[in-house]
Amino acid sequence: MNILILGSGGRESAFAWKISQSPKCDKLFIAPGNAGTGQYGTNVNLKVTDFDGIKAFALGNDIKMVLVGPEEPLVKGIHDFFLADEQLKNIPVIGPQQHAAQLEGSKDFSKAFMQRNGVPTAASRTFTRDTLQEGFDYLATAGLPVVLKADGLAAGKGVLICLTLEEARQELLEMLTEAKFGDASSKVVIEQFLQGIELSVFVMTDGNSYKVLPEAKDYKRIGEGDTGLNTGGMGSVSPVHFADAAFMQKVEQKVIIPTVEGLKKEGIPYKGFIFIGLMNTHGEPWVIEYNCRMGDPETESVMPRIESDFVDLLLGVAEGNLVEKELVISDKTAATVVCVAGGYPGEYLKDKTISGIENVRDSHVFHAGTTLVGEDIKAVGGRVLAVTSLQDNMFDALQQATADAARIYYDGVYFRKDIGFDLL
Ligand code: AMP
Repeated sequence: MNILILGSGGRESAFAWKISQSPKCDKLFIAPGNAGTGQYGTNVNLKVTDFDGIKAFALGNDIKMVLVGPEEPLVKGIHDFFLADEQLKNIPVIGPQQHAAQLEGSKDFSKAFMQRNGVPTAASRTFTRDTLQEGFDYLATAGLPVVLKADGLAAGKGVLICLTLEEARQELLEMLTEAKFGDASSKVVIEQFLQGIELSVFVMTDGNSYKVLPEAKDYKRIGEGDTGLNTGGMGSVSPVHFADAAFMQKVEQKVIIPTVEGLKKEGIPYKGFIFIGLMNTHGEPWVIEYNCRMGDPETESVMPRIESDFVDLLLGVAEGNLVEKELVISDKTAATVVCVAGGYPGEYLKDKTISGIENVRDSHVFHAGTTLVGEDIKAVGGRVLAVTSLQDNMFDALQQATADAARIYYDGVYFRKDIGFDLL
């Protein structure tokens, strides 16, 4: 079958790498892809939100499945667009429809869903401009620190952890009355702060049954020792030792089953991935957020640990027989170190020529913000490359990925040398 992946980051590179190994995949296309995805298939110059362009391409190239990488096309309704079109409706889209994508697209929607379905999550309430005063009153009783979340998608920036009441009041005011995060902050969720260690759990579902993919821990801050500004993600590790069998059992019983059953009970179809951001608080799982797609850079550590045919699993999602499919997970550890552009996550250097990828010894280099200019690979995005190593133990994986990241050069190259070392 011919498969189309939508997206251009490290996550889509890891999907493409894995899918290209499947005997079930004939032609693989990545739209728009990057300088690395051409190794696994054919890049197609289309934006992920150009639904008409995607339709024409899918029909012209006998596409039999579309795998959606990022959230934006899902939140904008690409799956619904396919279902509503006579010519496209039989082409399965992996990724939920617009209504269910609100699990990521609206914090208010996802909190209400969790509360209705008994999924453990921090206490919260939602406020608008009209209920600003009630918001102030709620803050006064909420305890500190307190978490303020813009309801809508805010490019990963819409969550503020406020240490003082004064700061929280000021931020709430700016979010609701000065559109601090644009439309995304026309509603604000005020939430109790959770203490603990975070991890990401990934579920694949056909809307009926589910499979739990390898869990991962990601590293969001730019600086070593988890300091400095938040980024899209500087690295990831899978497995995560504190997510032992007993903890994962709790996650399944208290979080995953109520989530999948809740979707079913509420008549919300869901075919795709559910990313569950969890806090482990004294051995108990609390849900921080849902995303309606896989994480980046977690996917780069998750895909190498999946030994089964990934296309067969995707077919299970598409055809509703996921329960019959086999998911075999490697015991090895995958570590991913992300090389970013100088200056990122602020204003960053662009169009720098990358060298040294050929010197990498025992890692996969998943391209993210790269493009080909003639023979040169240029760094054009904030997150440029994800270097992933799969080894028998965590120490070797961390050391190999970090050493291999150091073999890559471009003007301004930066990566964290401490990814995962806190887990040893
Ligand atoms: P989110 O966009 O909801 O994932 O939030 C971004 C980050 O903010 C999370 O990855 C956590 O590190 C942090 N965060 C969000 N909500 C909470 C909370 N209730 N308690 C503590 N930290 C949180």
